[in-house]
Amino acid sequence: MKTDIQIAQEAKMQHIRDIAAKLNIEEEDLEYYGKYKAKFSDALWEKVKSNPDGKLVLVTAINPTPAGEGKTTTTVGLGQALGLLDKKAVIALREPSLGPCFGIKGGAAGGGNAQVVPMEDLNLHFTGDFHAITSANNLLAAMLDNHIQQGNTLEIDPGQIVWKRCMDINDRVLRNVVIGLGRKVDGVVREDHFVITVASEIMAIFCLACDMQDLKKRLGEIIVAYTYDGKPVSAKDLNAVGAMSALLKDAIKPNLVQTLENTPALVHGGPFANIAHGCNSVRATKTALKLADIVVTEAGFGADLGAEKFFDIKCQSAGLSPDAVVLVATVRALKYNGGVDKKELGAENLEALEKGIVNLEKHIENLQKYGVPVVVTLNRFTSDTELELAFVKKFCEKRGCEFALSEVWEKGGKGGITLAEKVIDVLDSKESHFKPLYDLNLTVKEKIETIAGKIYGAIGVTYDSVANKAISQIEELGYGKLPICMAKNQYSLSDDATKLGRPEGFSIHIREVYLSAGAGFIVAITGTVTTMPGLPKIPAAENIDVNEKGIITGLF
Ligand code: ADP
Ligand code: MG
Repeated sequence: MKTDIQIAQEAKMQHIRDIAAKLNIEEEDLEYYGKYKAKFSDALWEKVKSNPDGKLVLVTAINPTPAGEGKTTTTVGLGQALGLLDKKAVIALREPSLGPCFGIKGGAAGGGNAQVVPMEDLNLHFTGDFHAITSANNLLAAMLDNHIQQGNTLEIDPGQIVWKRCMDINDRVLRNVVIGLGRKVDGVVREDHFVITVASEIMAIFCLACDMQDLKKRLGEIIVAYTYDGKPVSAKDLNAVGAMSALLKDAIKPNLVQTLENTPALVHGGPFANIAHGCNSVRATKTALKLADIVVTEAGFGADLGAEKFFDIKCQSAGLSPDAVVLVATVRALKYNGGVDKKELGAENLEALEKGIVNLEKHIENLQKYGVPVVVTLNRFTSDTELELAFVKKFCEKRGCEFALSEVWEKGGKGGITLAEKVIDVLDSKESHFKPLYDLNLTVKEKIETIAGKIYGAIGVTYDSVANKAISQIEELGYGKLPICMAKNQYSLSDDATKLGRPEGFSIHIREVYLSAGAGFIVAITGTVTTMPGLPKIPAAENIDVNEKGIITGLF
């Protein structure tokens, strides 16, 4: 089997104009970024906004192994298969971050014969959206520190600054830094912090804003610091909103690319799912729904994080109503959940499979709580044995759960026909009764406890004293009705990454709580989740290269 990048480099891409034509989009509504990438003009939305919506299908997964379980691969392959069945399908994905690309996981444009291309562009700079988001974030930081330097008329307390700088690289040494060292003209000395761009509030705002007006409103509401007497200071107070919006003007237009089989793909926005809300932009999803009969979208990590936040944050905030969920499982991840070391996942092990399948069971139960029809798909790896595949199929059938084997990684769209037919059948025959997990009117703690109890299976929630204090402050400031964005590790349903399978009898510990007033959610941090990852001992970056012809190798 060729590597992902080899397959991607051999793809027969069509000019992006021809991909857009499949969706009846004319050239005047495209802004070209080379031959194979384009952004949609603002005028396009005005033209399509009264079209009826297509069906919305979410792809999510069980708790993964560190390599990922193939949600993007499945999303792309399902889109390709729907195309083969003559359905007007569009996929809507997140833009990859440079963090995992140079770290452990590698790129995020799908895999095998189910990929989005041009893969190198997607994984590296793409259309510059992350650059724009990083710049807007850091402009706000610079204006904040400058305000303090220039006399601090807002009376900002340098000890209560909550805005952090950002960068889209895993760089642990920037987690805690001291800025403003030097002479008086070099600024006020204080402790500062960096988050990875995909964890910044601007990324979340970017993804949740439905248009420029909404973007500006949300940017204005960002709380950057508190005054000496405890009043919030916003981006609006610093007069930063206009310039930040100007930096984001092009970035907020959805990006169009294609799959290996020339299916249209909107790739736009990219918050992580463990520390942010994990979904592509509302603008891209809403536009896709106006252009296609079926939109397939992915939410990050396992369903306990990605799907929960897709439903409770994205769908609630944007008024979206999903029609079906595809839950991706792999034999490898089920065995991993059954306690097998990641180096031994290739060997048949029915005992571990049986032990780990409780993880799939819990995710099926969780998704059913949202009232959206569920299809389980097994993403087939070449190391899976017939006995293992049969075991998972039987497990699903016994629970009356729709099941389809997917071989899109190996065979592209052709390997996803069974899955696509199952999804079409579910869309045609089962009605979705989508409802979010919790009522926004509950208290902050009740909401956190609902997620921890109903989704993670926790018996209780404990709070650090700083978290308690933050919750009271958030409620006093009048932000208590916002949804919760849980920050948790992706491996376990609990807040301890080593408790695999379906852990029981555990409590969730909330270490820190903070408000993202612009994004419109409250972040609750559990365990040791960090908002600025580090690189592993041997980063993927060590194997990436480019030759004199500009051909990139080593991305995977
Ligand atoms: P996720 O979106 O769930 O994180 P991806 O779709 O990005 O996962 O896949 C993660 C990695 O696993 C990719 O490198 C991809 O090529 C590989 N992969 C996915 N499915 C398969 C499969 N069936 N067989 C082999 N490798 C796979
Ligand atoms: Mg993915």
